[in-house]
Amino acid sequence: MDESEHEAEKDIVRECAGRLAAGKLPPWKVEKEIAEVHGVVPPKNFRLAALTRREFIARTTGETFAFITLPEKPYKLRYKCTRCLFDWEIAAGDTNLHCSICGDTLESLSQSGPLVSNYVGGSEAYYSFAGTIQVKGDINKAFTNLLVYGTGLGPIGVTRGCRYINKFGGAEVRVSEFGRAARSIGYIFASDEGRRRAVELLADNLERLKKEMTPLLEEFSGRLGAVEFESAESQHGYTLFVDFVGEFPNARGHGSLSRAVGLAKKKCQEILMNSGLDYELSVIAQGYDGDLKPSPRNKRGRYASAEVRVPFREFEKELNIDPDKFISFVLLDALGARKLGCQFYSGMGGEIVPAVYKATQVNPQSPLVSSFENIFVKTDKGDLVYGVELPNVEVGIASSGEGIISPSAREALQIMGVRSAREFAASLAAQVLAGEFNLALEISREKLYKS
Ligand SMILES: [Zn+2]
Repeated sequence: MDESEHEAEKDIVRECAGRLAAGKLPPWKVEKEIAEVHGVVPPKNFRLAALTRREFIARTTGETFAFITLPEKPYKLRYKCTRCLFDWEIAAGDTNLHCSICGDTLESLSQSGPLVSNYVGGSEAYYSFAGTIQVKGDINKAFTNLLVYGTGLGPIGVTRGCRYINKFGGAEVRVSEFGRAARSIGYIFASDEGRRRAVELLADNLERLKKEMTPLLEEFSGRLGAVEFESAESQHGYTLFVDFVGEFPNARGHGSLSRAVGLAKKKCQEILMNSGLDYELSVIAQGYDGDLKPSPRNKRGRYASAEVRVPFREFEKELNIDPDKFISFVLLDALGARKLGCQFYSGMGGEIVPAVYKATQVNPQSPLVSSFENIFVKTDKGDLVYGVELPNVEVGIASSGEGIISPSAREALQIMGVRSAREFAASLAAQVLAGEFNLALEISREKLYKS
């Protein structure tokens, strides 16, 4: 590329980034604009479009991309396996042009496309820009959304949802001050009387026990919350669960609570044995509030919710759908999930939450519990209120003790504007709100799933 060509590209990027910033060009239409207005046709437009969104993000956040790199050829090419009759979409930088099923050489279809919607960078994890969302309430700031979503239109849906929500004043968020970790000790006793005496003994010693456990939570400034005793019956004897909860302001704290409850288990055994009380089993009870249980009683994580308010009278004019029809759709959808026996609703959230975890690589990297979601809709003071709740957001971003975070993922957190576990939860809830709100609008407008 010669100097003048290079300058011409810079001009295109500068101009398009300006149009993005002015709200005159939606981020998902940059590829088309560069091809149609500036005459840079596929596949060359894909790199410029990604550069445009990167420039726009740098201008609006003051943060620059360094570790989230842009490959030389950031687009995909389409091929066909003539034996399997299967189409393959392969990154242009990939040198393996064989069918992964039969091994035959693939035939080019001479078609290209962006790696993912709203692509901004990354060569293994493909980062998508997904709009900017203004939040207010427990957290007041604007977050710039980056998702590693994979294929599909999800990032565009979140971007569109953000635009609607910002137009109506942003997302009102609620986020609890502490994240919780939970661990339980499980016992089996030979008699109901033995179990009853054990509860008395352990309850009598609880304050001393908590004092001994507390230093083990210091690493993450944790403290012990409620301790619950729960009985259950089984053929094997009289079961007792003693469930401990730790509260952590800016961490996940799971590891330190595990160590503290490990100590508690040892101390409790001493207490029972010193009183001559025999148990048949004393273990850490994984099954009760341990790892990743999809139960509404699960105490792990941090509560976060986000809602948008739209004046009832403006709803149809601004959003192009009768608000009563919208409410009916949301209620029908929530009822459908309950009919299936789902403890939680999960729609777009089931994709958006993992996409945020992949972008930021926070611990835990499995977002199973964090993906639990509820949706709600109501009318209040002349407004239609639509919202989502995430009851169990787990996140550790404060320290290396919570697990390593790669440089590109730390960069993503920096660009997103997330500076604490609480802000992470707020940003997550706001993005899930944006995705669900946009999807619910599209479905109730009967714009989707048309054949
Ligand atoms: Zn094949």
